[in-house]
Amino acid sequence: MNVIESKPYEMLIGERWCAGTEGRTFDTFNPATAQVLAQVHEAAERDVDAAVLAAHEAYQEHWRKTTPAQRGRLLRRLADLFERDREKIAWIETLNVGKPITHSLDSLKAMPASLEYFAGIIPAARGETIPVANQDVLNYTLREPLGVCALILPWNYPMTLTVNKLGPALAAGNTVILKPSEVTPLSTMALARLIEEAGFPPGVVNVVNGSGATVGERLVTHPLVSRVSFTGGTVTGARILASTAADVKRVTLELGGKSPLIVFDDAALDKAVAVAAGDLIKNSGQVCIACTRLLVQETVRDEFLARLQTRLKAVRVGSPEDPATEMGPLVSATQKDRVEQYIRIAAEEGALPAQYGSVESAPEAGFFVKPTLLLDSKVDMRSAQEEIFGPVQSVISFRDEDEALRMANRSRYGLAAVLFTRDGGRALRMARGIQAGSVAINTGVRTSFDAPFGGYKQSGIGKERGLEALYENTQLKNVKYDMSV
Ligand code: NAD
Repeated sequence: MNVIESKPYEMLIGERWCAGTEGRTFDTFNPATAQVLAQVHEAAERDVDAAVLAAHEAYQEHWRKTTPAQRGRLLRRLADLFERDREKIAWIETLNVGKPITHSLDSLKAMPASLEYFAGIIPAARGETIPVANQDVLNYTLREPLGVCALILPWNYPMTLTVNKLGPALAAGNTVILKPSEVTPLSTMALARLIEEAGFPPGVVNVVNGSGATVGERLVTHPLVSRVSFTGGTVTGARILASTAADVKRVTLELGGKSPLIVFDDAALDKAVAVAAGDLIKNSGQVCIACTRLLVQETVRDEFLARLQTRLKAVRVGSPEDPATEMGPLVSATQKDRVEQYIRIAAEEGALPAQYGSVESAPEAGFFVKPTLLLDSKVDMRSAQEEIFGPVQSVISFRDEDEALRMANRSRYGLAAVLFTRDGGRALRMARGIQAGSVAINTGVRTSFDAPFGGYKQSGIGKERGLEALYENTQLKNVKYDMSV
């Protein structure tokens, strides 16, 4: 399927598809071959300003006055168009992100349903009447949109993360500017075409491309942007928090993680192994909620490890275009270097790195790293504390429930946690004690568009997805009316 444009990708600003005013372009790559895949026009600061202005005018003149039914209809139309082009977008992500095609297709399956879900819950963005003490006063609340929202995306799940930010922002009545990662902008450009085809008025959705330091920074500090929703690394998130502080903007941050998978001695071992292996393999471990610390009770450690190693030895690493491939490359040379450096650090601090799987049908130049376990890790090692964002898991033993909980919480992150035990009381005690935004018991953490998601500690601020995402895109006004007058 020929899904990549040969001419440089233009940006969508208001009703115009355009190049940047300074005429610059940048390359985007196919990580499986390390070859240039396409060129993309880069926004100058005044292009970012033009996009913000277009979003502001669309909000003031039109979008904030639309009815829930009108917004819902457009979101449903977009859902239908997405379904029509799902396979094409999946191929774009396979070529630009390096996800195996089977995984790209699977991860985009829920996108139309996500858009329909947010279309359906628009009426929930309503206020209530408050029975205040003063009976002469009618006191009620209104839930109102915020205005222009900047949605800033990382490279690991460009499309699912974009759709899950876009749906609630538009549903709540905001207009948006999308800023895809400069590493993987192509699927977002395909989505922008569908947004136009669906009939969203010009300016309601704009897309600008370029680096975080220039385009991203200009966007988040623009005075007409009232909300920033960011997904990416914790260091960048902290920087955005600082950049937006002077204007006291509304900020949602979905950041990094170092999630534990805790295996007790009464666990359904095969299922625990499948979840651990899945987290290592899926998107080459470049998943924010992936469990990267395997905490295993010492009495089942050997058996768990033996089964996990058997599974990992069979992993087919290779070309993402091959339907038999289970694991593709990392997204970039930078990411590959980072992961390999952490494997070296782990060895220096006393862990035992072991690699599995076979690299098949893959060009040598691609950014491949095999599935890696850091055996005999300790909870305080750098490699067990810092986010690596690749196919690497630290394996750590624990003695009992108390120690498991202490180790699980020994992290600056708190995005997710998984635990396997058949003891219901222990499962519930652990679920309560774990400091993380998502906890999964006897299954993997798999986010869904209709349940709230967001981290504790340095994994983020605020929630996305579910009803909370709609609220996160609104502000609440309290009104009182003195009826005695
Ligand atoms: P990144 O932080 O480098 O970049 C993310 C986005 O922010 C990019 O679009 C980038 O251009 C932009 N950006 C960079 N500096 C900026 C600035 N000063 N102002 C405004 N925008 C700026 O992240 P990445 O390397 O693309 O993605 C990997 C990270 O994302 C990992 O840490 C991962 O855990 C995290 N992530 C988190 C979630 C989640 O939901 N919690 C989901 C996916 C990825």
